[in-house]
Amino acid sequence: MFFFIGMHTTRKECGVEGYHTCTRCGHVGDWKLIKETTWLILLLIPIPVRVRYYSMCEGCGGTAEMTKEEFYGKH
Ligand SMILES: [Zn+2]
Repeated sequence: MFFFIGMHTTRKECGVEGYHTCTRCGHVGDWKLIKETTWLILLLIPIPVRVRYYSMCEGCGGTAEMTKEEFYGKH
């Protein structure tokens, strides 16, 4: 029996969350809205198993998780 199983993560930039000063690195700028989907590839069919929504600092890559409702309320 042959199985082809893999995991794959995609990140999609969905605009700008807001203009902040990062508490970690002090970078001042726009935080990006990121939708990250984790896919299970089963027999070449991608199945989404987990979706995360967060904003990300361009300076240090620090992230702040948010809910789907908060994410789509931003734009
Ligand atoms: Zn930062």
